[in-house]
Amino acid sequence: MFQKILIANRGEIALRIQRACRELGIPTVAVHSTADAEAMHVRLADESVCIGPPPARESYLNVAAILSAASITGADAIHPGYGFLSENAGFAEMVEAHGMTFIGPSPAHIRMMGDKIAAKTAMASLGVPLVPGSDGAVPDVETALAVGKKIGYPVLVKAAAGGGGRGMKVARSAEEMEDAFRIARSESLAAFGNDAVYIEKYLDRPRHIEMQILADSQGSVVHFGERDCSLQRRHQKLLEEAGSPAISPEQRTALGETATSALRKLGYRNVGTLEFLYQDGQFAFIEMNTRLQVEHPVTEMICGVDLVREQIRVAAGNALGYTQDDIVFNGHAIECRITAEDPETFMPTPGRVTAYHAPGGLGVRIDSALYAGYFVPPFYDSMVGKLIVHAPNRLEAINRLRRALEEFAIVGIKTTIPLHQKIIEDPEFQAGDYTIHWLERFVAR
Ligand code: ADP
Repeated sequence: MFQKILIANRGEIALRIQRACRELGIPTVAVHSTADAEAMHVRLADESVCIGPPPARESYLNVAAILSAASITGADAIHPGYGFLSENAGFAEMVEAHGMTFIGPSPAHIRMMGDKIAAKTAMASLGVPLVPGSDGAVPDVETALAVGKKIGYPVLVKAAAGGGGRGMKVARSAEEMEDAFRIARSESLAAFGNDAVYIEKYLDRPRHIEMQILADSQGSVVHFGERDCSLQRRHQKLLEEAGSPAISPEQRTALGETATSALRKLGYRNVGTLEFLYQDGQFAFIEMNTRLQVEHPVTEMICGVDLVREQIRVAAGNALGYTQDDIVFNGHAIECRITAEDPETFMPTPGRVTAYHAPGGLGVRIDSALYAGYFVPPFYDSMVGKLIVHAPNRLEAINRLRRALEEFAIVGIKTTIPLHQKIIEDPEFQAGDYTIHWLERFVAR
């Protein structure tokens, strides 16, 4: 097992990883920017190192500073969390070149899945169904128009290097293609330094269903079922459920087998998530994330597994020690992402949290680094916490979520708690009857 783990992240996920390490008896090193000197992940760490000024580029993305922090503290492994350097193959390579373990997949797999065109090509060859679209990258408008004609409008122009819902543009007809193509390309270049784009059929009423996978270095691959992440605004997830209200146990098993068999053939290791769009009874792969997801707790709740502990165990070379048959799904879980944003305008609301009270009780979990007196800095992602509930079934989970949201008090800054309270009272949400486009219409009305 590792002697000491450096956690190259901040906020709730840094705490989440720290908690798993503590339970495993592994000391941790926190890194932080000057803006985060008072952050909870720093206060609770065994050791901490300041790695730079507030902008992420100079701190949480500062590879040299992070590697130096690991080396001066004697860490032998680095957990990247999500976001920041978690899907940076070059970083993973450098960690390994410095004789430390990167807690995640191989750099080659990170690189492959980070290029969505390469990811789709690989998945197709491994027998995974895809959303219909262009055969690889689309170099110019003429080709884009030819693809549009072939697969039919509307289509979505997507960045090969995309992430966080950026670099995506819909073209509803041939007339809209030139603009969509040009904008997707320039957005992609600006955001990711890469202007490669591809085209997919734009699905009008899909659900976003993703499969949680775990693999050891000995070739064992299991799945922990699906999450339904259809509730999105600007292609960003807001509320997630496990399991999906739209998927039967048989569909879960079948999709799980498709995903595990593909990753077994690929020789993948550590955690991963295959994302699919689901419409008219068909699953179609869109991308794979080669890291822990924000929404992993809903899976943990229904499977009774600690995914971060599993990541650490398999990264240290341990075999899974169990098989698919040992994984039992229990009840229903829902997660609300709570952000420091105005619940109506979605403007960020950084500032001082003057009072804080987290809900508790049976089946309630809070993953957050907030505390009374904490100043939410303006420099980073606006998510300040996740409220996760678990109950024997979906109706009881919603009832539990309602009372937990009522108990939750974050005073001093506006948060999206009132938005979640509205969503869960909607009859369509309660019936589980929603697609990826539902929330945009809900917030607009
Ligand atoms: P990112 O990496 O930026 O998150 P994804 O490919 O995962 O990009 O897509 C993010 C979201 O965009 C999906 O969850 C879905 O809501 C929407 N989306 C992606 N592809 C399509 C498509 N072909 N048709 C309709 N919606 C799509």
